[in-house]
Amino acid sequence: MEYSELLELNIDNLTASKQNNVRFDLMENPKLGELFNRLSDVVEESGVQAYLIGGYVRDYFLRRPSKDIDVVVLGSGIRLAEKFGSTIGGKVSVFANFGTAMLRYGDIEVEFVGARRESYSRGSRKPVVEDGTLEDDQNRRDFTINALAFSLNKDTFGELVDPFGGLQDLKHGLIRTPLNPDITFSDDPLRMFRAIRFASQLKFKITDDTFEAIGRNKGRMEILSMERVSEELHKMLLSPQPSLGFKLLEESGLLAIIFPQLQALKGVDSIDGKRHKDNFYHTLEVVDNVRKQSDDLWLLWAALLHDIAKPACKRYDTRLGWTFHGHEFLGSKMVPELFKQLKMPLNEKMKYVQKLVLLHLRPIVLSQEEVTDSAIRRLLFDAGDELEDLMLLCEADITSKNEKTVKRHLANFRLARQKLKEIEEKDAIRNFQPPISGELIMETYGLQPSREVGLIKDAIKDAILDGVIRIDYDEAYRFMEQKAEELGLSKRQ
Ligand code: ATP
Ligand code: MG
Repeated sequence: MEYSELLELNIDNLTASKQNNVRFDLMENPKLGELFNRLSDVVEESGVQAYLIGGYVRDYFLRRPSKDIDVVVLGSGIRLAEKFGSTIGGKVSVFANFGTAMLRYGDIEVEFVGARRESYSRGSRKPVVEDGTLEDDQNRRDFTINALAFSLNKDTFGELVDPFGGLQDLKHGLIRTPLNPDITFSDDPLRMFRAIRFASQLKFKITDDTFEAIGRNKGRMEILSMERVSEELHKMLLSPQPSLGFKLLEESGLLAIIFPQLQALKGVDSIDGKRHKDNFYHTLEVVDNVRKQSDDLWLLWAALLHDIAKPACKRYDTRLGWTFHGHEFLGSKMVPELFKQLKMPLNEKMKYVQKLVLLHLRPIVLSQEEVTDSAIRRLLFDAGDELEDLMLLCEADITSKNEKTVKRHLANFRLARQKLKEIEEKDAIRNFQPPISGELIMETYGLQPSREVGLIKDAIKDAILDGVIRIDYDEAYRFMEQKAEELGLSKRQ
């Protein structure tokens, strides 16, 4: 297990051992050490007990750098935050409704909360909150590995409070709920997505008990807002191997609820013994391939959605076998409704995803032996600034089991990239502005906005892309004159 080594490393770091309580070295990172020291002083002065808890403690053992730190106080989190703020001269943001307060220490965000006990009602993920003990507070945490706490008081500084065996679970790479998983998930169904997201980010296994409870409680997700779900999907996509998370989503039954269109990619049909590939697993392979090269969230979304219309476009042809004609067009049309369904922003990011889905097959022609300059110019023009991303997606899309085929395609792509570069340098076609504007055409021939104006403009663009003329005012002007004559237009006197 790769994490156990890391864990041992840090267990070796203990500074002292007192009875059975091991103390961990919170000072190994100087910046954080200074923060914890000053915090500890303020905790003592305030006469309260306080702990570092949750993500920071987990990531300390995993040696993952973390910049957001949670402090739980037996008492008022807001009061301790204010006291700490005035000591270090930092501005405190208070969220009175939540009983929390936040302040920044350099680029670190520290959040304070009073230890609490929560009780949930069936219809909401908002609990009724009362003051509680540290144990109450740990009980309300989502997973054993997220319920670990380090003491900040002087006499116990760095001692670990681990009531649920979270350290062992970290060591074995396990995700499990501290209490009965049916209660933990039913209280707050977001935790089901968090379980899968952590499994994906950390490459951990969700224990059987906990995973089965997700299946039983998946219907609870009706009280969850879709924004929260897509935040988790973003984190899954950005994890080192996103397929891990999406496979778990599918197995748990959650995918079919939140994203039926992606679920529909799963499965293989067979007619006359001919089968097509399973587009769900293919898609996940493409996403993993993209993730190896990029951490651009929206490129990863494009990879996830590139074949989304395949089920709707699937046909069986006795001659051709299985075909998915037009899935790139339909897929790109589906993107806005999918973004809406997942409550994601309907902005230029969405348009970017649409564009990549629409164009995802285009570079394939370039990877064949014979390619015309004209085809290359057209791709440069249509893809514009998205060309590199598009090429990356298209390469990632080659997922044949046959290694030779993959190698051959990739070699062809290298050639295509070379050609793209040559033409680009020669013709500067990407994002070119047409040298003759619609206004100029209208003015020259005394036209209103009309079909003729469009025809002439397109003809000029095509002539440039086909290499008939260069991007040059005089050449384009002469070409306009020719075209206008063919259309029987004469110049305004
Ligand atoms: P990351 O910051 O990478 O998302 P994290 O574990 O720090 O991971 P946060 O959302 O920052 O996650 O939450 C901090 C801590 O609060 C968690 O470690 C966990 O103890 C607790 N927590 C967060 N969300 C929930 C939840 N929905 N249910 C129970 N506990 C939660
Ligand atoms: Mg966090």
